Amino acid sequence: MPFRIIRNDITKVEADAVVNAANCSLLGGGGVDGAIHRAAGPELLEECRTLGGCETGQAKITKGYNMPCRYIIHTVGPVWQGGGSGEKELLYSCYEKSLQLAKEYGCESVAFPLISSGVYGYPKDKALQVAVSAITDFMAENDMDITMVVFDKNAVSVSEKLLENVRKYIDDNYVEEHSDNAVRSTFVAAFSKSYEKMPEDVCCAPASFSFDKLDESFSQALLRLIDEKGMTDVQVYKKANIDRRLFSKIRSDVNYKPKKQTAVAFAIALELDIPETQDLLEKAGYTLSNSIKFDVIIKYFIENRNYNIYEINETLFSFDQSLIGV
Ligand code: ADP
Repeated sequence: MPFRIIRNDITKVEADAVVNAANCSLLGGGGVDGAIHRAAGPELLEECRTLGGCETGQAKITKGYNMPCRYIIHTVGPVWQGGGSGEKELLYSCYEKSLQLAKEYGCESVAFPLISSGVYGYPKDKALQVAVSAITDFMAENDMDITMVVFDKNAVSVSEKLLENVRKYIDDNYVEEHSDNAVRSTFVAAFSKSYEKMPEDVCCAPASFSFDKLDESFSQALLRLIDEKGMTDVQVYKKANIDRRLFSKIRSDVNYKPKKQTAVAFAIALELDIPETQDLLEKAGYTLSNSIKFDVIIKYFIENRNYNIYEINETLFSFDQSLIGV
């Protein structure tokens, strides 16, 4: 099931369970905690009083009251003390324990804030790395729809080096829709190896077109590629950050037309190269073009053979683009 990052106020997010970055007393505080208590109403505090507090790295559950969720899971993150006091393990444990509780209570969807990254001072990029690693580990064994809700975009800072490389790649390769011929020539020179067609065509037609596979639908091509790559269905939809139910739909409907973000996610999960990706996208009526920023970012990752979907999504998020999979 998918994992997504969104920018929102967590009190507005609908999920079976919303996680609260609480303090040990569980009796309310500032930041997310204050916002959740205000949104849930005074009954939440009443129930919290009966819980006897909570230790750092642990989690407790209450009803959701006036929040748009069935449950609120209260977890206590570590206070950042420089990184040498077991903060990472404790923060990992917050996500792990919260997800275990959510599972125990039959939740199918959970929304998290970036625990410890406010008043508790955990550097946001490091906090996100821990969150992603705990969530990824959990999802390898479980099905859950998980959303990380961040307040400000800067919280999601993939390594500066990666962002810098992507920025440079976009500068070098991004072609404005109505670019002049000079820009087009640069583009042709840069991409003549990967593309057989002229740039006008690249924007709206598949880069490599194979007539022998003309009749193959997206669904058929996907299943063929899964076989060819020696992967299992589960491996592929998990790696693609795609919901199991959506995968079943694609599998059973030979003419299913996925969203472009879904098709791209499968290309990433299957670790396709650029021509293979274009070939698969073409089956669903799409292509990767150099006049769409989203496409250029995807190309960067494929060309660099970086198929880490979470890193790709964090980068897309940083560039205000839609995420893949999900
Ligand atoms: P902690 O005490 O664990 O650091 P905070 O509540 O101070 O918890 O902050 C945790 C993170 O949640 C911070 O990154 C903060 O920007 C963010 N945040 C604060 N309010 C909200 C909200 N209403 N929705 C989502 N995130 C929020």
